[in-house]
Amino acid sequence: MTKKRTCVRCKGKMIEKKDKTPEGFTYKYFSCKNCKDEILTMKQLHEVAEKYREMKKYRAKVSKWGTSLALRIPKELAKKYGLKKNKEVTLVPDKKAIRIVN
Ligand SMILES: [Zn+2]
Repeated sequence: MTKKRTCVRCKGKMIEKKDKTPEGFTYKYFSCKNCKDEILTMKQLHEVAEKYREMKKYRAKVSKWGTSLALRIPKELAKKYGLKKNKEVTLVPDKKAIRIVN
């Protein structure tokens, strides 16, 4: 379901686009086909803000464990992703983040 939007500057047709924040989550916005003006609706803005809030909840401090570094994973996340003591996971590094794959 896409609502039709016209550009406030040039009355051109606006299309919904997707992009990614540096943290790696996607968000949507409208871009004018004509003048390339970009806007975020309140709904889109709330979606991004909500994702940021979710992420902030899980900030963790890096601590030292022997010669390695350790990250404490919050109980809630461990439960959600089925992480348990002594379980092996795979760390997948990419350009901006390290993903933990169960
Ligand atoms: Zn425009």
